[in-house]
Amino acid sequence: MPTEIAQATLCGPCAFDGVGLHTGAGCAIEVRPAGIDAGITFVLDGHLRVPALAEYIVDTSRATVIGRDGVSVSTVEHLLSALFAMGVSNADIHVRGPEIPVLDGSGRPFVEAIECAGILEQARARPLLVITQPLVVARGEQLVIALPSERFRVRFVADFPAPIGVQFFDGEIAAQEYARQIAPARTFGYLHEVEALRTRGLALGGSLENALVFTQDGPMQPLRWQNEVVRHKVLDLLGDLSLLGLWPLAEIVAIKSGHELHARAVRALRQRFLADLAPGSHVRG
Ligand SMILES: [Zn+2]
Repeated sequence: MPTEIAQATLCGPCAFDGVGLHTGAGCAIEVRPAGIDAGITFVLDGHLRVPALAEYIVDTSRATVIGRDGVSVSTVEHLLSALFAMGVSNADIHVRGPEIPVLDGSGRPFVEAIECAGILEQARARPLLVITQPLVVARGEQLVIALPSERFRVRFVADFPAPIGVQFFDGEIAAQEYARQIAPARTFGYLHEVEALRTRGLALGGSLENALVFTQDGPMQPLRWQNEVVRHKVLDLLGDLSLLGLWPLAEIVAIKSGHELHARAVRALRQRFLADLAPGSHVRG
């Protein structure tokens, strides 16, 4: 039997405000404690509750967007990644504005606020997703594989045009390692791409304060690690995997993947899980 991990929430609320990366609009959020088995829920327009689950993904083209009934919130992946990996399984996220604020482009401000608010363990085990059969989703050269494993670990291979090139990450996902090795990795982009996005009305909140920008010659700012890009890809992947609503006992192998393929993998894993819970079906242990 796998080791049980307790559910957890925050000891008190924490709040953030700033611009949204894509809209450039001012956005404010407050993350509040929630009870056992509540899960993570977005509260939009003051009342519309949207669970942070794969079924509520409405767009993955530039960021992961969650919504229902025509109301949505964009760029949820960094905040969700931080809550998920730091072990916060129950919380309400009250959102004002169209996006989660980008802050410094990484998960670090969220991790620091979570640590500052404090994490409260709750008296029930966190639901686990035990993988017994490999799952493979692919699109072109992109691949995501979920393999049975006694621990949650991630291997990621990123391969971007020069000067980024091929980068690799391999590690177990645990709170302290995440806080030190993954959360500080920033959103990144190419200068020429940023200009193209702006003309399409995207990346309007992007700046050298919240994104690592590469030119042909290299990064415009000092890197936090030589492989900061793949560490950020892991940060994004964890945000998308949080939409399982479960802690996966799996090894996730991701090759050149992005939000769209992550969403497909998470939907497929949840469908399997929900099918296993259906009456009369075999429940894997
Ligand atoms: Zn990101």
